[in-house]
Amino acid sequence: MDYLAGLNPQQRAAVENTQGPVMIVAGAGSGKTRVITYRVAHLIQKGTDAFNILVLTFTNKASKDMRERISKVVGSEAKNIWMGTFHSVFAKILRVEAEKIGYPSNFTIYDTDDSKSLIRTILKEMQLDDKLYAANIVYNRISSAKNNLVSYTEYQENSQIQAEDSGNKRPLLGQIYETYAKRCYKAGAMDFDDLLFKTNILLKDHPDVLNKYQHKFKYLMVDEYQDTNFSQYTIVRKLAAAHQNICVVGDDAQSIYAFRGANIQNILNFERDYPDLKVYKLEQNYRSTQNIVEAANSIIANNKNQLEKNVFSDNEKGDRIKVSRAFTDNEEGKLVAESIVQDRTSKGLEYKDFAILYRTNAQSRAMEEALRKLNVPYKIYGGLSFYQRKEIKDLIAYFRLTFNPADEEAIKRVINYPRRGLGDTTLEKISAAAGQHDISMWQVICNPHQYLDGRVPGQLGDFATMIQSFAAESKKLDAYETALYIAQHSGILKELHNDDSVEGRSRYENIQELLNGIKEFAEREDIEDRSLAIFMQDIALLTNDDRQDDKDKDTVSLMTIHSAKGLEFKNVYIVGLEENLFPSQMSLTSRTDLEEERRLFYVAITRAEKKLTITYATSRYRWGTLTSCEPSRFINEINPSYLELEIAKPAKNSFGENSFDSERKTWSQQREFTPKPSQSTTVIRPKTTAMLPKAHVPTAGFTPNAANEFQNGMDVEHEKFGFGKIVNLEGTLPDVKATVFFQGLGNKQLLLKFAKLRIV
Ligand code: ATP
Ligand code: MG
Repeated sequence: MDYLAGLNPQQRAAVENTQGPVMIVAGAGSGKTRVITYRVAHLIQKGTDAFNILVLTFTNKASKDMRERISKVVGSEAKNIWMGTFHSVFAKILRVEAEKIGYPSNFTIYDTDDSKSLIRTILKEMQLDDKLYAANIVYNRISSAKNNLVSYTEYQENSQIQAEDSGNKRPLLGQIYETYAKRCYKAGAMDFDDLLFKTNILLKDHPDVLNKYQHKFKYLMVDEYQDTNFSQYTIVRKLAAAHQNICVVGDDAQSIYAFRGANIQNILNFERDYPDLKVYKLEQNYRSTQNIVEAANSIIANNKNQLEKNVFSDNEKGDRIKVSRAFTDNEEGKLVAESIVQDRTSKGLEYKDFAILYRTNAQSRAMEEALRKLNVPYKIYGGLSFYQRKEIKDLIAYFRLTFNPADEEAIKRVINYPRRGLGDTTLEKISAAAGQHDISMWQVICNPHQYLDGRVPGQLGDFATMIQSFAAESKKLDAYETALYIAQHSGILKELHNDDSVEGRSRYENIQELLNGIKEFAEREDIEDRSLAIFMQDIALLTNDDRQDDKDKDTVSLMTIHSAKGLEFKNVYIVGLEENLFPSQMSLTSRTDLEEERRLFYVAITRAEKKLTITYATSRYRWGTLTSCEPSRFINEINPSYLELEIAKPAKNSFGENSFDSERKTWSQQREFTPKPSQSTTVIRPKTTAMLPKAHVPTAGFTPNAANEFQNGMDVEHEKFGFGKIVNLEGTLPDVKATVFFQGLGNKQLLLKFAKLRIV
C-alpha cells in the first residue's frame, strides 16, 4: 500500500522526518492521527523493530483502530508495537517492575468504585463529617495531587497546596491522603492515578530501569497531547530524554479534560523542553464540509485563550447546519430518530453513519426511547459498562483475591457474599484489628485467634481455606477452568441460579457471558500469557468506551461528547443545546470553565463529515421536574450564515407532550438494541420494569417523578444516607421503588417520588 501517496506535503514531511522532536498542533480533522499512524508504519518499513516503538493514545479503541491501519501497511509486525493508553502501557511495565518499588507483581488495580469505597471506610473510621469530606471531593483531591506528582508528605508539608486545594476548609485532607495511600499499599493495590504516579517514582528512583526503557522505546508518539496531565507529561519527557525521538500531536482547541488535570501548558512547554523541535502546520481539514469547518471556527473564535490557527476545507460547501427546536426532551428524541430514518433512506446511508452526541449521559434516555420506537438499532458508548455490573464485580472480586488475598476492597465485597454468616460486625472487627496491628485484613483472617477478641466464627477459617484453594487451583488450571472453578466453589453461580426473577436470570446470563469471554481469551493464539491474572489486568483498564469493539455492526452511535474525541461520522446530531445543560451549569461561574465548555462544543461540531444537526428543547425533565429551558448561548455564537433554523411541529398539549410522549417508559438496563424483524417494541424490552399508564398526561401540580432519570448502577446521593449506588429499580410509575446500596448502611428501599436523591 502506498501510504505516502495519501498524505499532503506537510503531513508527509512529518511522517518522513522520524529523527528528533516533532510537534504538530493543528485543528480538528487535519490528519494528526493519520500522521502518527503512517509515521509508525513508515518507521517499520524503514527497518525499525516494532518492539522499539511506543505509541500512547487516549482510548484503547483508538489504539486498536490505529494498529489495524498500520497492519495494512506492515502486516503482522503491527502486533509488536507497544501501543495503548498511558494507563494500560504503564500498568504492563509496572507488572514487571513492581517489586522494585515495594509492590507485588500481582498488585490489584482499584477502580474508582474501590477507591471511593476505601475513602468512605477511612472517613467513617476517622469519624469525619461526610458532607464536608464527601468521598467524591476527597477522591478528586487525592487524584489531582497524584496527577501533579504531589506525595502525601509533600501535601502535608506544603500548607500552600492545602490552602489552595480546599481553602483551609478541610484541614484533614492530607491525613486522609496518607491513610488512603498506606491502605492501598498494604492491600497490594494501585488506583488508576497510581499507575502513572508510581511509574514516575519508578523512573525517578531507579536510573537503571529508566535507562532500560529509554533504550527500549527508541521512538515515542503521543496522540491527543493536549489532554495529558503533568504526571503523563513527566513520564514522556523522561522516556524521551536520551534519544529525543518524540512526536506529539494535538489541538489546544480540543483540550477538554482540564477538570481531570490536563494542562495546556504541556504543549507550550514542549517548545521549551526541546529546542531542536520541528513544528509542522496542518491547516486543511479533510473530514468535514466547508460549512461545518467554518461554523466550528466561528465558535472557537469566542475563546480568548487559544493558539492561532487557520483551518479550512476543500470539500464541498455542504448543507447548512440545521438547528431544530423541540418542546420537550422526548420530542427532541423523536425529531432526531425520525430524521435518521429519513436520511438513511433518502441518502442511502447506513445506521453506523449516524451519531448522537450529548453533554451528559442522562440525556440518552429520551434518544433511546425514540430510536426503539422506530426500530432503529443503536449502541450506547459509555454509561454503565459490563464490568461495572454488580454480579460481574462480585465474581471478579473472587478472582482478585485468588491472586492477591490482601486486596481489602475485594474482601469487603465478598467476605459475606454469598451469605456465610460473616456480617458487618465481623468485618468491622477484622478491619479494626488490621489497623491496630498494622497488618492486612487477610493476615487477620488467616490468624483470627491471634488478632481477634472473643468468639471467632468458624466460617472465617472456611473463607480463608476457600481462597487458598482458588490460588492452588489457578496454578493447575487454565484461565477459563480457574474462573469456572471459582464461580462454582464461591457459591456465586448457585446463588444466581436460584434466583429466578427476571433480574436474577439476566445476572446469571451475564456471569455466563463473562465466562465465555474468558474462554475466548484462554484460547487466543496471539498472546503468550493467557492466564486469568492477565485477563484481569486487561479488564481493569477497560474504559466504558473500549468494550464496544464490534464496530462493524450497523448501529447508530450514542455517546457523550467527551467519548467522541478523535472519532468521525457522516451525520451528527448534537442534542440538548440549552443553557445550564450545555454550557453546563457548573461552568457558568468562570471564564476558564466556560472556555472549556466551548472547546467541547468545538469537538462535537468537528466530528461531523457531511451533515450536522443541533437540537434543543424548551422544556425538559431534570431532577424529576419539568423545567423550562433557554437555547444555549453557543447557538448564537455560530455565525448565522452557516445555520438553518427549523422549529418542530406544535405538540398536542400544554406541556408539549404529544401521543408519542405518552408512552414514556422508565430507564431500561439494556443499553443496546437490535430490532428483530418480527418483534414489536414491547417485546424487545424484557428488562423494562416500569411504565407510565398509556394515556398519561401530566397535569399541573403533579410532578412526574424522577424515576425516568435514574438507572441501575447509578451513583446517587441521599440527603440522609449519603452516597450510594442504585442496585435495582422496580414498580410502576409513579411508584417506582429503588433499592439503593449505601456504604456502611447496606441496601435501602426508597420510593423515588418521595426520596430526595441526587445523581452524582
Ligand atoms: P481530530 O483532531 O478530530 O483528532 P485529526 O487531526 O486526528 O482529527 P484525522 O482523524 O487523522 O484528523 O483525519 C481526519 C479525516 O481526514 C480522516 O478520515 C482521515 O483519513 C482524512 N485525511 C487526513 N489526511 C488526509 C489526506 N491527506 N488525504 C485524504 N484524507 C485525509
Ligand atoms: Mg485525531
